[in-house]
Amino acid sequence: IGGSIEVVCGSMFSGKTEELIRRVNRARIAKVNVEIFSPVADTRYDKSALVSHNLNSIPSKAVCKAAEILPLASHIQVVGIDEAQFFDDELPQVCQTLADSGVRVIVAGLDMDFKGRPFGAMPQVMAMADSVTKLHAVCVKCGQQAMYSYRLVPNESQILLGEKESYEARCRNCFNLDGAI
Ligand code: ADP
Ligand code: MG
Ligand code: ZN
Repeated sequence: IGGSIEVVCGSMFSGKTEELIRRVNRARIAKVNVEIFSPVADTRYDKSALVSHNLNSIPSKAVCKAAEILPLASHIQVVGIDEAQFFDDELPQVCQTLADSGVRVIVAGLDMDFKGRPFGAMPQVMAMADSVTKLHAVCVKCGQQAMYSYRLVPNESQILLGEKESYEARCRNCFNLDGAI
């Protein structure tokens, strides 16, 4: 009863983590049991907290595989998952199982990689979600709405952890101007 999957997606710097923290904090105010998970692969900040680019933070658990979330989420009413694009392809099923058992699942992640390709299991989770919120950053070149994460360094691997030194938010035009590296 009452389970659902909510997706918060968008480019880097679009405010996904802040939005996840906002939704989770409201659940906490409602005295609901909340647990937040992030992939161990994301080592940029603290392993025990989600940290937004604004340095807002909230406690979280780092897990290696999506399947680890299920046993850790028993008796939890709201499950938050950040950086969902880094999880394995069991994530959609895990979200569905949780939602079917009454859990409100809030999933935040990059919808596209640095080349504009759909990222990891995000397309599947978005397809299965009750609601999808696509956030936009501000294009650092022209100030328009940005939906791409432009990579500034010459590295071809899909996963490259980084911040402003490695990525900038860009709109479609500015992303295409320099071509995806
Ligand atoms: P995400 O999780 O989507 O990467 P965060 O929630 O961690 O984003 O951070 C969003 C914050 O990043 C914004 O509130 C803003 O303060 C900051 N920021 C830095 N660069 C940009 C940008 N180009 N566009 C929008 N916000 C930016
Ligand atoms: Mg984030
Ligand atoms: Zn632009």
